[in-house]
Amino acid sequence: MMMKRMFSAVTLLLTVVAAAAATAHELPRHKPVPGGVAVIDLPGDRGGRPEVRYRDRQGLVVPNGDDYRAILGIPLGTSPGEQRFEVRFPDGESLQKRFHVEPKEYAESRITIADERLVTPDAEALERINQERPRIRRALATHSEADSVPLAFALPVENVETSPFGRQRYINDQPRNPHSGIDIRGATGTPIYAPAPGQVIEAGHFYFNGKTVFLDHGEGLISMFAHMDEIKVSVGDELDTGELVGTVGMTGRVTGPHLHWSVSLGNTMVNPRYFLIDESPLDRRENAE
Ligand SMILES: [Zn+2]
Repeated sequence: MMMKRMFSAVTLLLTVVAAAAATAHELPRHKPVPGGVAVIDLPGDRGGRPEVRYRDRQGLVVPNGDDYRAILGIPLGTSPGEQRFEVRFPDGESLQKRFHVEPKEYAESRITIADERLVTPDAEALERINQERPRIRRALATHSEADSVPLAFALPVENVETSPFGRQRYINDQPRNPHSGIDIRGATGTPIYAPAPGQVIEAGHFYFNGKTVFLDHGEGLISMFAHMDEIKVSVGDELDTGELVGTVGMTGRVTGPHLHWSVSLGNTMVNPRYFLIDESPLDRRENAE
């Protein structure tokens, strides 16, 4: 246990050092694709931090030297082409800015789930799902004021990715929503660590997502961890990078133990990869399917 703790401390230290080095690399990466992130420079000489509205939502704005930078989440369903957003400066001026969304192809994934109740919920299950939905929506729509927002993420579980972001999914041949996070392999009980500092804003056992924790990184940037075996935090807890969130499990609608990790930006699910300091562990293929 002691050795494990020491190892975690060293890992955390390395992560922090890597995070400091990575800030020079400008995270998240500018990936203007459906399910991606647009990183756009804004001038800083207009009386302070501007506000940004994109798709009727408040956008994330962070300092960039003497200037600022807008970081916008692009929904998976966005058609390639021009997107606009509005910038409002403290001096009362405002302007429209544009960026171009490039096309991106996502693969399909087909899974079979034997428990028919999990595929087509019965009346009792539907009632539970309908009660849970507002809690999930509220958590994902959170926009809390923050002085600084972490943009350099560590992997919550260091292992291979078994199902990437954005795949069109079919469950027992029925089309479902595209995959709105990444699945990371892990045996039941594997620790899940906070990828970046944040506050726990919701935690519970949900029908589809199983045991789930929502971590608010500030200004509309939220992590969601689903299908956990054990939740080790409570609503209100403030976590630092590398602190324990819970353990990998197979609660909810799953075919095996794994961590499903979603990142929501401005109430839009985006690919968590674009925030990672080091995404190479996800690509290790020797044990991957
Ligand atoms: Zn998943």
